[in-house]
Amino acid sequence: MIITINQINQTAEGLYPFAGKIYLDDLVEEEANIVMLEPVQVEGQASILDSHLYQVTAKQKCVGKLICARCLTTFPTSLEAKWQEKFTDKKELACDTEEETIHFFSEGQIDLDLFVREQLLIHLPYAPLCKPDCAGLCPVCGVNKNEKPCECDTQRIDPRLAKLQDLLAEDKDSVS
Ligand SMILES: [Zn+2]
Ligand SMILES: [Zn+2]
Repeated sequence: MIITINQINQTAEGLYPFAGKIYLDDLVEEEANIVMLEPVQVEGQASILDSHLYQVTAKQKCVGKLICARCLTTFPTSLEAKWQEKFTDKKELACDTEEETIHFFSEGQIDLDLFVREQLLIHLPYAPLCKPDCAGLCPVCGVNKNEKPCECDTQRIDPRLAKLQDLLAEDKDSVS
């Protein structure tokens, strides 16, 4: 999605509203947690802040399907973000410091795709959950414990972790 300087300059108050869709389907391949992404709906406005200085304010919304980190089922979710960035077409004005970032653009075109993509990734949960209290899969029989309980003894743990459990048990004993 590209906004041009002409579009901004031609509006009455130098305030250019925009809306559109961005396709980030390639993220389905890149991110193991995502199985489906609808186009990202983006809307916002671009404005003139100063000579050669522009600001874009946007909000974006995308419906996707993620894989639950505990039970491995897919579930729909809405990934939303709001952001604001500054842009300049004068290289000397561009900067990236702790206080301020001004992005450089050329040929009178501001491309929003990268920013929309970055915001989506920022708002993508590291370990998505289908619900906050998802019970997950039974480590013994593999059943989805959200759907049916099982009778497995889940106290049995990996022998490599047994040592750790012993240590933790000792710890608990010494505290009490
Ligand atoms: Zn789950
Ligand atoms: Zn089980």
